[in-house]
Amino acid sequence: MKEKVNIAGVEFDAVRYVDVLTAVEAYVNQEHKKQMIVTPNPEMVVYSQNHEAFRQVLNSASMAVPDGIGILWAAHYLSLPKSKNRFVEIVKVVSTLFQVLFKMKAIYRVLPDRVTGADLLFKIIEESQKNGWRIYLLGAAPGIASIAIDRLTKQYPKAVFAGSFAGTPVETHEDELCERINLAEPDILFVAYGSPAQEEWIHRNLNKLNTIKVAIGIGGAIDFAAGNAKRAPKLLRSLGLEWFWRLITQPRRFKRIWNATFVFVKLIFRLKKGSSS
Ligand code: UDP
Repeated sequence: MKEKVNIAGVEFDAVRYVDVLTAVEAYVNQEHKKQMIVTPNPEMVVYSQNHEAFRQVLNSASMAVPDGIGILWAAHYLSLPKSKNRFVEIVKVVSTLFQVLFKMKAIYRVLPDRVTGADLLFKIIEESQKNGWRIYLLGAAPGIASIAIDRLTKQYPKAVFAGSFAGTPVETHEDELCERINLAEPDILFVAYGSPAQEEWIHRNLNKLNTIKVAIGIGGAIDFAAGNAKRAPKLLRSLGLEWFWRLITQPRRFKRIWNATFVFVKLIFRLKKGSSS
């Protein structure tokens, strides 16, 4: 595996979807080992600046994939030589952000692809059909995961779903949830409690999950799979503007989107300004 790429203290792996699928296969075949895959996005990187324990949870994962074009932008911008002139640096920020908008090759130089939790859910389930991996979906509102399983079964008829449960991420429910999951004997666990709850839940409980080999936090992906929430149109996604779609469709997310865009860019700019290279 290549060296990790550090962005504001969070370590990322330079991987594409195919690399994640290969890793998942290797993880499932490893006896007595349990691995966590995390999918940090710009909002999580911003949050981790003031939540050291969360940053450590992210960095304890076996693999961290860049869930957001903003992460690819940051990796690219931070790798460019630093100028002493503040104005030149601001021009670099603006021009690299334009490179994102026009999907220019340079953006994919340090981190080769954006790998989202939502897409991983579908791709891993598709792959599971070849190997018979048993899948468990934890989280989302009550009833949503079983709708997701019905729809996913139509799309991937050979996929094996060991079970699903909404539950809650509160610590007092953990033992009950682990017992349920253990009874179902899954290999792969997807947890949809949103961040940071889902990563913290996995970190606290992974060792209690007897049969699980891989656990992944996937945010709102079960809602997408159930058809309960709509993903951004492909064009907006490919322009790196999924956040804009979410702003229009879910205006209550304004603060989160502000953190993932403006606050994140400011953080990366300041970080580079303060770095010694
Ligand atoms: N969720 C849950 N229990 C909770 C809090 C959240 O099951 O106590 C679920 C929620 O229903 C949704 C997911 O966690 O399915 C979080 O979705 P969100 O869109 O916030 O995640 P994102 O994709 O933005 O990380």
